[in-house]
Amino acid sequence: MTSPRVRFAPSPTGYLHVGGARTALFNWLYARHNGGIFVLRIEDTDVERSSWEMVAGILDGMKWLGLDWDEGPEVGGPHGPYFQSERLDRYREAAARLIAAGRAYYCYCNPDDLKAKREAAEQAGQSWSYDRACAVLSNEEISDREAAGAPRAIRFRMPDGATAYDDVVHGRIEFDNSVLEDFVVLRSDRYPTYHLSVVVDDIDMGITDVVRGDDHISNTPKQVLLYEALGAPVPRFAHVPLILGPDKRRLSKRHGATSVMEYARQGFLPEAMFNFLALLGWSPGNDRELFTREDLVTAFSLDGISSSNAVFNPEKLEWFNSQHIARLTGDEITPRIEPVLREMGLWDDALRGERREWFHRVIEILKPRAKKLRDLAEQGRYFFTDPAEYDEAAVKKHLAAPGLAVHVAAWRETLAGVDPFSPAAIEAALRACAESQGIKAATLIHATRVAVTGQGVSPSLFDVVALVGRDTTVQRLARLKQFLDSTSV
Ligand code: GLU
Repeated sequence: MTSPRVRFAPSPTGYLHVGGARTALFNWLYARHNGGIFVLRIEDTDVERSSWEMVAGILDGMKWLGLDWDEGPEVGGPHGPYFQSERLDRYREAAARLIAAGRAYYCYCNPDDLKAKREAAEQAGQSWSYDRACAVLSNEEISDREAAGAPRAIRFRMPDGATAYDDVVHGRIEFDNSVLEDFVVLRSDRYPTYHLSVVVDDIDMGITDVVRGDDHISNTPKQVLLYEALGAPVPRFAHVPLILGPDKRRLSKRHGATSVMEYARQGFLPEAMFNFLALLGWSPGNDRELFTREDLVTAFSLDGISSSNAVFNPEKLEWFNSQHIARLTGDEITPRIEPVLREMGLWDDALRGERREWFHRVIEILKPRAKKLRDLAEQGRYFFTDPAEYDEAAVKKHLAAPGLAVHVAAWRETLAGVDPFSPAAIEAALRACAESQGIKAATLIHATRVAVTGQGVSPSLFDVVALVGRDTTVQRLARLKQFLDSTSV
């Protein structure tokens, strides 16, 4: 088998949405697994609805996910141009070839009349297909129309019989040609319809496998006929299932963000999104869920694509995110969290320099609770700055013990002398101090947590205190004492 050539062919009429990204990802995985070529082609023949901004947005989304393309915008390649708006001559030439071969004919019907007929039929609850009026024009009738300069479209001449193809996902699919109608391939404004442009490009670009959404199944027989009429081999088709929301309806904005870059903005990791999208409609054939990009390249095959619809579960995406955060090293997290900490006014260049190791330990203990990188920064704020205030519920719950100010003062004195300042030594000192004062260790633990973090919950307190450091903890305990002296909890 020669190495496959696949493509992702978005129409730049919107951002890169979850469904498109998943299609791109399957194509990319297939190409990378098989040492093939992944082509990116921009289907921008709908000039009014396409824009550069949208193209840029799609490229950004793909770059964020790490879906690099071998041929296409920005990188070029031997089969360019990769924008359909720059390939119009190719479509016109192909349409002329279809005419010359008798596989297509000029249609002089007025598009507005046809539209009115279609609408009338639909209103009456009937289906409508082109009546082939122009398929049977005599030479004289054609000459008359040409002489009058009548606008003309080009229609494919549908043969009798049936058209079938073997879908990698769905098996054999067959359509009776009588339901396919003589569809337009080139409109009277000389712009191609989608069927013609997609087939001409897939032929020109040597595409061997077309992996795309299920919504294109009904387009495929028309395209198969076009390949044949243009004398080109038909590629393999794999139609991937739709993505549904948790309510089992087609995924849409109702279900939350559908733009890939929106998830980037919300603090999802590209590797988590990648992992999550890969499992929307594909399975490795076992229960494994966590994959790196490289693991997926190794495991991916078209056989694992399911024919039933996939459900987008936002909680699952969060789970993947926390799992992928947990896998990142301190050095991997630093460049990603730096902008967040900067925005929060908490960044210090020393975190990359002399405090690097300390920062990595902080990241390590915050990681298990973080669903997003922002959580890590927000939940760990107290490592970088004193708590601005104490959480109200934590105050009520943990600072009401009688005589607490006195105990806190004693603990502060003890803590100032703990050496080494390790979690184990801090814990031993706290327990001894509590005992000598006749109170429960938990009372001091909770109070210290509020003093140091401002919160009622945190990772293991002794680890936190050891990382926050002796001087800072002593100061924060002093502040707590002041607070207790000045307030009646
Ligand atoms: N531009 C088409 C779309 O966005 C691509 C169809 C195809 O992959 O053949 O749906």
